[in-house]
Amino acid sequence: MGSGARAATGNDGHIDAGSDIAVLEGAHVVTVDGSGSEFAGGHVVVTGNRITAVGPGAAPATPAGARRIDASGCLITPGLVNTHHHLYQWITRGLAVDATLFGWLTTLYPVWGRIDADLVHTAASGGLTWLAKTGCTTTTDHHYVFPHDGGDVLHAEIAAAQRVGLRFHPTRGSMDLGQSKGGLPPDSVVEDIDAILAATEAAVDTYHDASPDAMLRIGVAPCSPFSVTGDLLKQTADLARRKGVRMHTHLCETLDEEDFCRERFGCSPVEYVESLGWLGDDVWLAHAVHLSDASIASLAATGTSVAHCPTSNARLGAGICRSRDLRDAGVAVGLGVDGAASNEACSLLEEVRHSLLFARARGGPEALTVRDALDMATMGGARVLGRAEEIGSLEVGKLADLAVWRLDTLAHIDIADPVAALVLGAPPPLELLMVNGRAIVSQDRPVTIDEGVLAGEVSRASRILLARAGAH
Ligand SMILES: [Zn+2]
Repeated sequence: MGSGARAATGNDGHIDAGSDIAVLEGAHVVTVDGSGSEFAGGHVVVTGNRITAVGPGAAPATPAGARRIDASGCLITPGLVNTHHHLYQWITRGLAVDATLFGWLTTLYPVWGRIDADLVHTAASGGLTWLAKTGCTTTTDHHYVFPHDGGDVLHAEIAAAQRVGLRFHPTRGSMDLGQSKGGLPPDSVVEDIDAILAATEAAVDTYHDASPDAMLRIGVAPCSPFSVTGDLLKQTADLARRKGVRMHTHLCETLDEEDFCRERFGCSPVEYVESLGWLGDDVWLAHAVHLSDASIASLAATGTSVAHCPTSNARLGAGICRSRDLRDAGVAVGLGVDGAASNEACSLLEEVRHSLLFARARGGPEALTVRDALDMATMGGARVLGRAEEIGSLEVGKLADLAVWRLDTLAHIDIADPVAALVLGAPPPLELLMVNGRAIVSQDRPVTIDEGVLAGEVSRASRILLARAGAH
């Protein structure tokens, strides 16, 4: 079938060249809608940036000139949604590879303290391109390192997302609790609280797009209990709610953090942030590994959601998130790759597989189904980012963010269940990735960016940063 897709994509890889209607037919379509609808030999029709038909068999009649794509042998899923990342870390991979979270952080803070806008643009371009190649159509980013002489690093990563073509939810992160005040980061990488609040408000005013088909939305994201003050948490919560934007932070990642909160605040991390206004249906927490039953109940009662990052948690030996218990309690759970410095692969599809394997390793064979895992990566992520009405499933009226996976090669051809092939099998070739109706990856190749040139840019940026930091 590859020849059909090649003919339809054209020389520039843009399926929408010459027409704003694309008709994909012959695929196994997994909608991840509320009924779990799946269609063997089904179709998806995209008009402009929206899905206008999805169902079994051939597509309904479409106007002459529509671009028809033979997707037989393929699985079509909603595009994957990444709910936690630190894109700048793409150029600091492979350092402190055998350390704990706190040891890894203290090794890397001084390196990260030397980033600037140019380096972040390159790093983010690398991380975003790789996300696209692994099926991701929407991603957030948690950027919390703002060197005083580093230029506009938030703008740099937004420009990178526009260059690659992903739907982007960056957050204006922050740290204000340096070592001299009992925090973990060196004083050289923290900011003053007033500067943080002013820059965060400016970021929202400059970039946030609340419209339903937005490609860019901003969140507010102080870094973690051990790198920010309670005052900053409280004031950023007030700011986010005044502006109507979402709130994000790291929480309950390790037992070291639990100890830090018990010693310093006399309560659990969840109780601590709740006292500062940091639970609610506009809040999502990265990791949430070490949760008591009471903490899970608090998240559920307040509508707080979770970005589950199985690979990073395993890489740092932090533990395994109680994803089954969270889902059973009604907490929205999405998946995240976390930063590239604690997950050198940064494959969102790999997170789907790991979420399932780790849940079963922890909770037995019924802890998570293959469709649960795909649900977390799609609708789960859409809920976490507050976009359940717009993305996360293949339904008429939703935005045209989808992934077409090739399952007719040696790696998958005899796997009976196409969702199991995607989740349990090797990563399949990505025939097509569409974001907002636009082809971003075609036949495993990025179409918006030259991957070979980008690899050279990334290598140079990494060498510059490590030399600057005196690490090499
Ligand atoms: Zn993180």
